[in-house]
Amino acid sequence: MIDIKINMQGWKLSEHGIPDSFYSIPEDAEPIKQGNKIYWPAICKCGTQKLVEGTKLRSGHTKSCGCKKKFATVDLTNQTFTYLTALYPLSERRYGNVVWHCQCKCGNYTDATVASLKNGAVRSCGCLQKESAVRRAYHLEN
Ligand SMILES: [Zn+2]
Ligand SMILES: [Zn+2]
Repeated sequence: MIDIKINMQGWKLSEHGIPDSFYSIPEDAEPIKQGNKIYWPAICKCGTQKLVEGTKLRSGHTKSCGCKKKFATVDLTNQTFTYLTALYPLSERRYGNVVWHCQCKCGNYTDATVASLKNGAVRSCGCLQKESAVRRAYHLEN
């Protein structure tokens, strides 16, 4: 049986059981039958239009054109990296990396990419280096 009976015209998948789906279906979309599969011209949040199997849209198997994977799979909210706690992602990208707005233990805010947080390249707003420099100067390091 073909699921053409499920009319997905005008659907926002995020309002149809897949909260994190980027896809929506235009009101005037015409489904395309191929074999026993139904494809819908779905529009991703980024503007890309793709023919996607209706079942994959409704099951959440396909949630974006691929842009989601590239940019937003890593959720660092409230994760701490040494002195920095990631607060929320910015729309800014550096070399394809999502930039997160972070709060430092000292209270300052700074922005850092996912990669630099994960590999430890950025561990504070800058105060950590200062502090360890002071510690070294006074031979306070354990
Ligand atoms: Zn997309
Ligand atoms: Zn700091």
